Amino acid sequence: MDKRSTQTKVKVVVRLRPCLSTSEKTFVSVVGNKVQILNHRNIEENLQYEFNTVFDENSSQAEVFSTSVEPMLEKVLQGQNVSVFAYGPTGAGKTHTMLGMTSDPGIIPRVIQSLFEAIEEKQASALNGNSNQAPQFKVTFSYMEIYNEKVHDLLVSGHQDLPIREDASKNIFVADLSEKSIDKYETFMNHFEPAASNRTVAATKLNKYSSRSHTILLLKILRREPDGKEMRGKLYLIDLAGSEDNRRTGNKGIRLKESGAINKSLFVLGEVVDAINQNQPRIPYRNSKLTRLLQDSIGGGCHAVMITNIAPEERFYYDTYCTLNFATKSKKIVNTITTHVVRPPQIEKPTATVRPIKRHSGSLP
Ligand code: ADP
Ligand code: MG
Repeated sequence: MDKRSTQTKVKVVVRLRPCLSTSEKTFVSVVGNKVQILNHRNIEENLQYEFNTVFDENSSQAEVFSTSVEPMLEKVLQGQNVSVFAYGPTGAGKTHTMLGMTSDPGIIPRVIQSLFEAIEEKQASALNGNSNQAPQFKVTFSYMEIYNEKVHDLLVSGHQDLPIREDASKNIFVADLSEKSIDKYETFMNHFEPAASNRTVAATKLNKYSSRSHTILLLKILRREPDGKEMRGKLYLIDLAGSEDNRRTGNKGIRLKESGAINKSLFVLGEVVDAINQNQPRIPYRNSKLTRLLQDSIGGGCHAVMITNIAPEERFYYDTYCTLNFATKSKKIVNTITTHVVRPPQIEKPTATVRPIKRHSGSLP
């Protein structure tokens, strides 16, 4: 990658999940590509945030995939690196968006399915053309987490604290991370499902462990053309740790340390996205494990999408407010006067300002 070339911006999209209970009040509305929430500092105002793409509460998994992720697959098949991550507080829909359910699959199963369809198509069209040889593809995946600033392999048991390294060509890799070869959707699921469901069980037992770790699926695609030319692409699909500010929950000791470390990774990710989108010359990749891992897959010429998940219930007010500010960063927030006055949720002495705050973890006193 030419160092002087401009950064490819991180595309930031927002997804609002539907309200999950009929008894709770909501405070978020979507109008076109704008998200509107009540202004807790002035009840006669709404805060309006504008994005390139906003998925409202009725958006389907298929729509999120085809709009924000599917166009990236061709880039990976051409040897480029891509990363997709779900950001937002615990309960806002990150896992639903990335993984989903068997009855309503999310991005990961859709990526796997589309990837193998695209590979088959490429091979068939090469053979249908005047070439008697098709390109060959080798697909492998790894599954890992970053917990407390340590990288663990989720395809093997036990915590390993694997080191992140860089090879002579500046490719970033995790030393000793296991890889599984896959040739179709079913092979992937055979390896992935037990690892994913083990994690879910562990997460329930270990007191919201999942909300504190970044879960990372890495797909590597090697394409070999009949003339011997090789292209290598990487795709990261990441379910980030919850963006809520754990300091507010009064965590102590080890928990506080975990929270601090997670805040660090998310904080640095915010700085990295910001630096990339403002075309700054120095991107602080090395300041956290997560961003170090993503160094060759976000910014530079790589394509990245951040799906910002938000929840509409009143109890999510502060988290949604912080998440929208994090996602908006340098963009302008417009205050609009509402004709109807709705009481905002009660918040003790808010100190946050209406301007976009520097990072997500601004805390209430
Ligand atoms: P997170 O991973 O951010 O903590 P989840 O993905 O677990 O949040 O979502 C919290 C709850 O909301 C789950 O019960 C999930 O099924 C539900 N949910 C999230 N997004 C949607 C959606 N778009 N449509 C319907 N239910 C959703
Ligand atoms: Mg989750």
